[in-house]
Amino acid sequence: MEGTKDDAAFTAYTTQFLEALWKEDPDRATQTGYHKYDSLLIVPTDGSRQHLFKFAGAQADSLAKYTPATLSDANKIDYQLIQNELQKIQWRTQTLKDYEWDPSSYNVIGTFAYILNEHYAPLDKRLRNFYERMANIPAYYKEAQKQIKNPVPELTSLAADQLNGGVSVLEKDFADSLKKTKIPEATQKLMLARAKVSADAIKGFATWLTNLKSVKPRSFRLGRELYQDKFKFDIQSALTPQQVFNAAVSRKKYLHREMAKLSRELWPKYFGKADMPKDTLALIGRVIDTLSAKHVKPEDFQSAIEKQIPKLVAFVKEKDLLTLDPSKPLVVRREPAYMAGVAGASVSSPGPYDKGGNTYFNVGSLSGWASARAESYLREYNQYILQILCIHEAIPGHYTQLVYSNKAPSLVKSVLQNGAMIEGWAVYTEEMMLNAGYGNNEPEMRLMWYKWNLRSVCNTILDYSVHTANMSKEQAINLLTREAFQQQAEAEGKWKRVSVSSVQLTSYYTGYKEITDLRDAYQKKLADKYKLKEFNEKFLGYGSAPVKMIRELMLEKKQ
Ligand code: ZN
Ligand code: ZN
Repeated sequence: MEGTKDDAAFTAYTTQFLEALWKEDPDRATQTGYHKYDSLLIVPTDGSRQHLFKFAGAQADSLAKYTPATLSDANKIDYQLIQNELQKIQWRTQTLKDYEWDPSSYNVIGTFAYILNEHYAPLDKRLRNFYERMANIPAYYKEAQKQIKNPVPELTSLAADQLNGGVSVLEKDFADSLKKTKIPEATQKLMLARAKVSADAIKGFATWLTNLKSVKPRSFRLGRELYQDKFKFDIQSALTPQQVFNAAVSRKKYLHREMAKLSRELWPKYFGKADMPKDTLALIGRVIDTLSAKHVKPEDFQSAIEKQIPKLVAFVKEKDLLTLDPSKPLVVRREPAYMAGVAGASVSSPGPYDKGGNTYFNVGSLSGWASARAESYLREYNQYILQILCIHEAIPGHYTQLVYSNKAPSLVKSVLQNGAMIEGWAVYTEEMMLNAGYGNNEPEMRLMWYKWNLRSVCNTILDYSVHTANMSKEQAINLLTREAFQQQAEAEGKWKRVSVSSVQLTSYYTGYKEITDLRDAYQKKLADKYKLKEFNEKFLGYGSAPVKMIRELMLEKKQ
């Protein structure tokens, strides 16, 4: 029940908590759309880290004054999200200690780029904050050098690449933007001088990283214990990583079996009387390869995606899968210049402090791509996968979830949103659409979805095996190319990603599995009263919360 005395007090507490969090972490504040601290850059000293640690402890004490049982469902979730966040801050500073071994955590450029590119305030004002914020950059990197000890080589070269690649934001983009303002000449000169000093500090740090000779470098593999902790804080699943890994391994077997069946069924249609490969994986690979040739021309890529949206809306309505809010249409746009380079499609949503803003479906163009690169990309995003991509990103995937999430009016859930729930929902809807008959129940569509699904499944297997066991690069590439039917280039890219990140790659499959399990349990509980639409809407109504918390509330016995 909303509106009790305890709820009112708790809501007041959450407001104070977020205010304090932003002051503690101005970078995160800016990128969340909270701009009071845009001009601040905190130097990462031992002292500032101690301060953050104490902040988490003090907030945990304040939080402990509330009793979750007396709060509304929405506040119960917020309570647990804040608790998780505070524990995570303490764990990071005391146990993970990535400030010592991950040089890529010292990248100030992202926030500067955000201030330049997002039009939340007049340009003059944003540039003045940019200028103020640069003041601490030399001290920041001097301190970063002191903090780093035996860094992970992969993260060291990633950091150097990112800094060298991004420094143009300060060296060039800032100057270009200044020209568009009426800031007096003399002031501009000062501003540009500081940008030069700042860029030099960033490049100096990158050079220092490149020349760093570490005697005993830390392995990029996180190790079992840290992995378990990180999984607990980031994924917030009811399952352990080992359980998720086991489930992924059996899911892979299931998918291979089903894919083999479909491939045998499709073989005569595409290969006539030719002999079928005896090896099952080779058979599936051949059929997938042939189906991948069905793709649009490079110049039609954007319009093909645009044309999908109304079809998806019509299908969701026709099958009554969930209610789409007609007052919040999705704005399809060509990918803005500063995002260019990432082809395909993505959704960019207004931040939690700007819920009225537009949500965009950014569609990239392949113009200017070399023909071999475009061909390989288009084979990957063939006629079938392109439709699945639109389901995943837009309707009823990420975009639809976001509209529901914005109606659950909790800033805490927007700020501390659960990535596994968000990705899991998008994957869950792909299967839901196919199960409702999307794509005319064509076996080709189902086979290609299985391949797509295998990607999430293998991401989980890969991440866990690499970080907690000792999976080698060769084994990893073999898993991805042979068992998940990926191209060599894609597999190489995935290896790179898993060697500079951990846990995040498991979010897609974990979220998907937990949502599917919850739906089955909910169906069982409601028996003949169960309706898929009611499940979907109720589930989304809780906002971007961890599935395990939604599960507790949805399966709770009615008093
Ligand atoms: Zn082709
Ligand atoms: Zn996604």
